[in-house]
Amino acid sequence: MENLISDIHAYQPLADTSVVEKAYNFAKDAHSGQKRLSGEPYFVHPLATARNLVELKLDPTTIAAGFLHDVVEDTHVTHEQVRKEFGEEIALLVEGVTDVGKIKLRGNREEEFLENLRKLFLVMAKDLRVVFIKLSDRLHNVETLKYVPEQKRKRIAQETLEIYAPLAERLGMGELKGKLEDLSFPFVYPDEYKWVLDVSDKRYEETDRQLKRARGMLINELNEANITAEVHGRKKHLYSLYRKLLLKDRQIDMVYDLVALRVLVNTVAECYEVLGAIHKKWKPLKGLIKDYISQPKPNGYQSLHTTVFGPDGKIFEVQIRTYEMHNIAEHGAAAHWDYSQRKAIVKNDEKLDKDKGVNGSALGWVKKLASWQKMTRDSEEFKNLLKNDFFAGRIYVFSPKGDVYDLPKGATSLDFAFSIHSDLGSSCTGAKVNGRLVSLDTPLENADLVEIIRSKNPVGPKRDWLDIVVTGEAKRKIRSALKALPTPR
Ligand code: MN
Repeated sequence: MENLISDIHAYQPLADTSVVEKAYNFAKDAHSGQKRLSGEPYFVHPLATARNLVELKLDPTTIAAGFLHDVVEDTHVTHEQVRKEFGEEIALLVEGVTDVGKIKLRGNREEEFLENLRKLFLVMAKDLRVVFIKLSDRLHNVETLKYVPEQKRKRIAQETLEIYAPLAERLGMGELKGKLEDLSFPFVYPDEYKWVLDVSDKRYEETDRQLKRARGMLINELNEANITAEVHGRKKHLYSLYRKLLLKDRQIDMVYDLVALRVLVNTVAECYEVLGAIHKKWKPLKGLIKDYISQPKPNGYQSLHTTVFGPDGKIFEVQIRTYEMHNIAEHGAAAHWDYSQRKAIVKNDEKLDKDKGVNGSALGWVKKLASWQKMTRDSEEFKNLLKNDFFAGRIYVFSPKGDVYDLPKGATSLDFAFSIHSDLGSSCTGAKVNGRLVSLDTPLENADLVEIIRSKNPVGPKRDWLDIVVTGEAKRKIRSALKALPTPR
């Protein structure tokens, strides 16, 4: 407990942590005598949940709610008691987590499943901290999955891979996402897990040795260039490696970022200096220099990536970022959480983004979901939005101005046009992708540069466009534009 408090003070020196201590004692009492399936005292679980929230550097209120997240569900304590002891804010957080816990995310019928998912997003749009607590709770649950009976175990692991990990990803919480996936992977795909472990083990050793050498050389190079930097090796998460292997015909030789070097510096200018120093020493592979600093990923991720022919011509990846970008890459939306602004943050994220100079699309996405919810009274339509926009794999495409747009796989130029603006979509007559004219139903690919050709005298959307677009957003906008057109004779 003392460690926990001093860890909070390390990132929030002035925080009043008395509520954390109070919640610790309250939860410990309430759960006394209860045991986890592992045989440990139940209190180990809320403690681990609170610990995970501290890792995310969250505020004392959220951490206190983390301690209390199971007291209503699993002990004699009532919501009224929590409200009386800890006040409205914490009571609402605990209620939110309890509500999410009741949502079964694997309905037998798709219908039921999507309805449940809709409920989850409703809770989330109200207060994002509920999701941080839920994800921290889930992390400890998958850490202790081996104690859970086999059938239930697979269900929890699958739900984690299908819902919670993508959710963490969309919120830009890279570290948590990686952990959730790697812990669930062996229970959902046991044979594939063994295979990946087997093919990667030997390679890791070899690659790691080469990388240590490269690391030493790079540190010397940066010293000579007078750049202060930290250089680490980072190992690719196993599940993420598995997904990549599936795209590369299961050829591990085709994966260049199995182990990568990560360089942390203080300023953006130094990021580019480091990139220059690396390219001076090692030749980069064509087409694999990625500038996610000037063009962040839609979930807010920023870094420079380059893949180079290193010592002895061995190919490896280097990722360069500032300490602040690193914090955001690991903690995502939680890193945007401003202690002093609390609830205001989801509403005011644009202002906050400007203040912090970071891209806050992770929060933008939550906001978008919340506004869809208001716009689409029809729950049917909202479910379709979720289905097409949340679960489909994502692609990232560019506008001629260089802005990044995040679309589901299979999206077409029309989806792209409508995601920018209804008017642009409605007046669209054609599209150029990477400088070439394409038909409107051509699916876009990752990193395509898309230019919309519009007519001066737009005739409005056509009915058959509904078959071309895949995003719920475009469908909704086309339908409403069609309604506004004069009825065809
Ligand atoms: Mn729990």
